[in-house]
Amino acid sequence: MIKWSCHICGEIREDRNISVRSNDRSDEYNLSYGTFKENVRYCNDNYDCIENSKTYTHLTKKEAIEISNKSEIKLKEIGDKAVEEHFRNKKRFDENMKKVVIFFLYFIAISLLGSFISSISSDETFLEHLFTPWLVPVRLILAYIVFKLRRK
Ligand SMILES: [Zn+2]
Repeated sequence: MIKWSCHICGEIREDRNISVRSNDRSDEYNLSYGTFKENVRYCNDNYDCIENSKTYTHLTKKEAIEISNKSEIKLKEIGDKAVEEHFRNKKRFDENMKKVVIFFLYFIAISLLGSFISSISSDETFLEHLFTPWLVPVRLILAYIVFKLRRK
């Protein structure tokens, strides 16, 4: 059976008789809100221990500042990570958008160039070549090949 000492009366009690109260004391030491919480163990069946646990303190000002600094660093790290992640996602999105635009430009260029060359060498007009349905997948494949070659 795990046993704990009560911070108030000092008695060693069984786990079920001891509760823990977490007092936010940041304000008292002019520390950032929520960065210094002091845990106080007390007998949960003793009125005096329950009442005194609300104001009891066992950590020194030096310890309070140390705890506060540590949790501020942790909070900052969490914040920095979130910002980093945001920019990483944005960069990835921008890169993908760029690829889509480049691929589309290749497709347009190949379509225009192909239709132009075909219209010179045949009786059909430029527009007739441009809007020939079966040429669309051919141009898409060509654009894909050019796109892939470009990336190497
Ligand atoms: Zn007690």
